[in-house]
Amino acid sequence: KLKFTDSEGLLLNRRNSVNLQRSSSDTFPAEVTITDAIVEKGKAKEFTLHVRDVTRQQKLQNKLKLLAYSDPLTGLYNRTWLLETLKRALKNASSSHEEIALFFLDLDRFKKINDTLGHKAGDELLREVADRLVSVTRQQDTIARWGGDEFIVMMHGHMNESHIIAKASDILEVMRQPVKLAGRDLSLPTSIGISVAKSDAYDADSLIQHADIAMYQAKQKGRDNFQLFHPDMASKAKRSFDYEQEMRKGLSIGDQFYMLYQPKVDRNKNIVGMESLVRWQHPTEGLIPPGEFIPLAEESDLIVAIGEETLRMVMAQLRAWLDSGIEPPTVAVNLSGKHLISPDLLPYIQRCLNEFSLSGELLEIEITEGVLLQDIDRCIEVLNALKALNIKISIDDFGTGYSSLNYLKRLPLDILKIDKSFVEESTSSTEDSEICFIIIKLAESLNLQTVAEGVETEEQFQMLINKQFNLFQGYYFSRPVSAQQIQSLLASPLTVN
Ligand code: C2E
Ligand code: CA
Ligand code: CA
Repeated sequence: KLKFTDSEGLLLNRRNSVNLQRSSSDTFPAEVTITDAIVEKGKAKEFTLHVRDVTRQQKLQNKLKLLAYSDPLTGLYNRTWLLETLKRALKNASSSHEEIALFFLDLDRFKKINDTLGHKAGDELLREVADRLVSVTRQQDTIARWGGDEFIVMMHGHMNESHIIAKASDILEVMRQPVKLAGRDLSLPTSIGISVAKSDAYDADSLIQHADIAMYQAKQKGRDNFQLFHPDMASKAKRSFDYEQEMRKGLSIGDQFYMLYQPKVDRNKNIVGMESLVRWQHPTEGLIPPGEFIPLAEESDLIVAIGEETLRMVMAQLRAWLDSGIEPPTVAVNLSGKHLISPDLLPYIQRCLNEFSLSGELLEIEITEGVLLQDIDRCIEVLNALKALNIKISIDDFGTGYSSLNYLKRLPLDILKIDKSFVEESTSSTEDSEICFIIIKLAESLNLQTVAEGVETEEQFQMLINKQFNLFQGYYFSRPVSAQQIQSLLASPLTVN
């Protein structure tokens, strides 16, 4: 026995979607068709009613809808849903006088963790992010995975700036809580950009774009923070958008990039090595520091082009010094991880060594710890090949990554460079001073040389000598200087003050 719950206006010979009620009183969706009707005076007297239970179809349809609107990995909404919801909300905003705030989140270290610990761990991490976002937002807020490690939280309601700032702080705080992943305690520092629409004057796309621009600013301001969008930001962001094009152009023209050299000294302040540091003199923007363009270059194949250019410039300089009778010490070149494991690296170095008739002895490669973990076997292979050319290998910014003794032992290393953050603090913080001590012991046990970088004062220098560091580098001895200036430093012993 079935009862119509909403049977108004059933059409003859058509499929009508209705809800039917069983005598057991539960309702179910059905498709009802009326055929063979005998109509008298406009009323159906007799007819055949075909009823089809469409519960399964409807469930399937809901599932499809869910698929179309959700992110399968995290279960959050996807881009499509967010855009539709945002457009709807913007339409309503003018009449409701509500604000709409978009929080554009980008995880600061996801790529590194993903590369280091693998995709499975990466996926787990993204699910963890989703859970945390759910925990820190209200039911009516929309949380979407925008793509990769980007998320958007959309809130609407009567909010002022302090509400929005408080919410952003809450999100940052919850992300900072450590998570156990692959046996490590990791936190998930995040950069957040916020844009707010107060009326329907905004369209969805530009609201998202503004939040994205503000997020980019948050990254530039040192990550793990949030920034509210301000129109001034738009032109700045444009600048970095053009970077890639400009870098390619600059590299092909050939005189915009050049190297500076910073001496490494022993405890008697004799120069025993140097580090080459790249500079970019942009024709209109002026001098752009490597901290600004190297990370951008690393996002594409440009980093290989820059790496090759720096290797070539350094080797050309070594040849020029040798030709003019100067005996240069070893020069270190910084290489990005992506370049290190690229198949082009070794043939390129070999070619340059031949071209400039150099032996590898005068070269040193600096790589950061994180690089090694990305593909340890490939790294060992490349580093061994570099060693075979007599090139020295040093680990840069040591102490900031996840190094374990186990894999350090497997690598053909020569030098550990302790990160300058430890040097900065080591005269005041006992913990950092302790870390210096441990690194020295580690280096001794592995038979490696140690370099302390970022030495700025006599006090730090003395303290680091006491700690038994072998070599020192920093503004206290010399800032990075031109090849010309290095030449005169080499000719006359270094005097400080
Ligand atoms: P890094 O390899 O750790 O280089 C050391 C940075 O510390 C340099 O900054 C140097 O100028 C600076 N520094 C040296 N002494 C002191 C000091 O006493 N105090 C302070 N506060 N800083 C000091 P720079 O040249 O701006 O380079 C920054 C980073 O950019 C480098 O860090 C390196 O990661 C990257 N980089 C620089 N040149 C190259 C390059 O040719 N290729 C690649 N792939 N990366 C490069
Ligand atoms: Ca370096
Ligand atoms: Ca360094």
